[in-house]
Amino acid sequence: MTNNFPHLLEPLDLGFTRLKNRVLMGSMHTGLEEAPNGFERMAEFFATRARGGAGLIVTGGIAPNEEGGSMPHMARLSTDEDVANHKMIADAVHAEGGAILMQILHTGRYAFHPGAVSASAEKAPISPVTPTPLTEEGIQRTIEDFASCSVLAQKAGYDGVEIMGSEGYLINQFIALHTNKRDDDWGGSYENRIRLALEIVRSTRAAVGEKFIIMFRLSMLDLVENGSTWDEVVILAKELEKAGVTIINTGIGWHEARVPTIAHMVPRGGWTWATKRLMGEVGIPVIASNRINTADTAESILANGDADMVSLARPFLADPEFVNKAAMGRADLINACIGCNQACLDNIFSGQICSCLVNPLACFETELKIEAADTKRRIAVIGGGPAGLSYATTAAERGHDVTLYESADRLGGQFNMARVIPGKADYNETIKYYEARLADLNVTIHLGQRASVEQMADGGFDEVILATGVTPRQIDLEGIDHPSVLSYIDVLEGKAEVGKSVAIMGAGGIGFDVAEFLVASEDHEDNPAAFFKEWGVDTQSKTAGGLLPEGPQPAAPARDVFLLQRKASRPGAGLGKTTGWIHRAQMKLSGVKTVSAVTYQKIDDEGLHILEGEEPQVLAVDNIVICAGQEPQRELQAGLEERDIKVTLIGGADVAAELDARRAIEQGIRLAAAV
Ligand code: NAP
Ligand code: SF4
Repeated sequence: MTNNFPHLLEPLDLGFTRLKNRVLMGSMHTGLEEAPNGFERMAEFFATRARGGAGLIVTGGIAPNEEGGSMPHMARLSTDEDVANHKMIADAVHAEGGAILMQILHTGRYAFHPGAVSASAEKAPISPVTPTPLTEEGIQRTIEDFASCSVLAQKAGYDGVEIMGSEGYLINQFIALHTNKRDDDWGGSYENRIRLALEIVRSTRAAVGEKFIIMFRLSMLDLVENGSTWDEVVILAKELEKAGVTIINTGIGWHEARVPTIAHMVPRGGWTWATKRLMGEVGIPVIASNRINTADTAESILANGDADMVSLARPFLADPEFVNKAAMGRADLINACIGCNQACLDNIFSGQICSCLVNPLACFETELKIEAADTKRRIAVIGGGPAGLSYATTAAERGHDVTLYESADRLGGQFNMARVIPGKADYNETIKYYEARLADLNVTIHLGQRASVEQMADGGFDEVILATGVTPRQIDLEGIDHPSVLSYIDVLEGKAEVGKSVAIMGAGGIGFDVAEFLVASEDHEDNPAAFFKEWGVDTQSKTAGGLLPEGPQPAAPARDVFLLQRKASRPGAGLGKTTGWIHRAQMKLSGVKTVSAVTYQKIDDEGLHILEGEEPQVLAVDNIVICAGQEPQRELQAGLEERDIKVTLIGGADVAAELDARRAIEQGIRLAAAV
């Protein structure tokens, strides 16, 4: 078999130990750390990823002491009693031939409790708490806590620790002038500001001996004002190597930074240039991270010598077998992370257990299992959108005889519209993944065919799954049939000519998507440089923190757009917790005028007549695009039931309100896992 990923699969010799390949499963807090039975569940979660081929794994952040946790109940490793839980994880990973580090995370001023500490009393914009500056004694105790936490991690059987020095957490807060306003030995000069990082590493190395991996997550780009300069980053990297660090991992952007660093609009492997700049400056391996979501991207980073290893965090939620599939020459079967954040980070930041939109099994490995069916059934799935695809593949994997009907000439349903939105091209990867799996599982597919009741009755199916999706909601408004009115489907499918000025009725997820589509220039997908310019990132590393002094430089919008809603709330308030701010900022950058508390009056040759509050206005636009939500499409249901055919509604055909792909895919899998 030809190996298409020679660099990815090449072992890495660290002197005292050898990693089986160059792929790190990066750290992600999953919420299991604090959940009942969380350690049992994490053991299975990480073991599944070790079995799937990850060369090295890092756990989610574990606090070294009470004040270091984001919440008082955040998992920590500070006593002998905590060791047994962690041993369960290390043992489970080792049993699968994997290697695992525990991340030590002290959140500093990002904590949400009154005991928060930092370099100085500088409140973070993303936490309500003003931290207490650490005293000299407090600093010494913190250093000891990191070292003793590492010793406990070693006792638990971990292969090493990752010391979290980036993303704006405590160590980063000491390093950067942005937050360090001290005038003692721990502030002022750069030498003083990096002392905490170096003392932590030195004490840890002294405590754990030579044969234990110490990875340091180094902030290569802070993306906040008064962050580190590039020269300072290089100095710190060299000092970390001298202090005993084994591997340097890349951190990009503080959590409070107003630049997207991992969401779907970030170009694939887009931040690798920062890691590449450090290559050759140190003698220890350097890892690239952020938005590396395909085996091709990872391989080309390594083949170009831009990094010694690649870190993938969310892609291991999306597909635990990422590495094995690449090694088997079946990268087409990798379920790629699409950077949506909808089931991972959004869940974490709303206090739920993390999972994955494209892989609802993630973090639920002990509860949701796909096992061979006892009795083989003949199943028809009508509709090849996310719900139908997840049902069809899961049922077929369990051994059922599945036939899939899709009226369009391509599988994917609503994902075919999502994939044309700027920054959402990766949604096409999900469609390609399902196509490959359906072919592998020998599912019979009828494309371009509207399934009929007769066909179902004649087909001898035991069960019919109606995954026929949604239709756009019809609006009752004078002039709604005016030629200037377009459906979002026609716009996104390229079936309608759209003028230079547009009003969008409805500011939900699709309204925002359509606005981004309409203001974007045609070459938006092929132009990573435009992304960095739009968000004001200094890719030459000439400024402290890596932000352009002139700020964001968005491209001129292709159209004038109004985005309207009847609610009085802020448009986009219902968008994802960790991506909503990006979409709202993009609207501002593109000059989209968002208007709330609108009453629609009529549409005519003059344009769209509205009341803005009490104020009458005519928006003299070329086109009005309706993005007013969806209704379920279930026209076959009654006919099938009349013929006594068992019908199950899933996805948008089941509930259209607030339909999202996450619910659709999860429902498809859960129902098919039980049929
Ligand atoms: P949606 O989020 O429910 O938004 C529908 C919009 O239409 C609302 O803003 C609503 O606002 C308006 N509306 C509802 N009935 C109306 C009527 N009779 N006349 C005029 N306006 C009306 O639905 P969607 O935008 O179609 O999105 C569907 C699903 O796709 C969402 O649930 C979302 O989860 C998902 N999605 C998410 C994203 C994302 O997160 N970026 C992107 C795309 C899709 P008012 O009632 O205030 O006018
Ligand atoms: Fe990736 Fe979205 Fe899954 Fe998160 S939920 S891992 S961003 S696909």
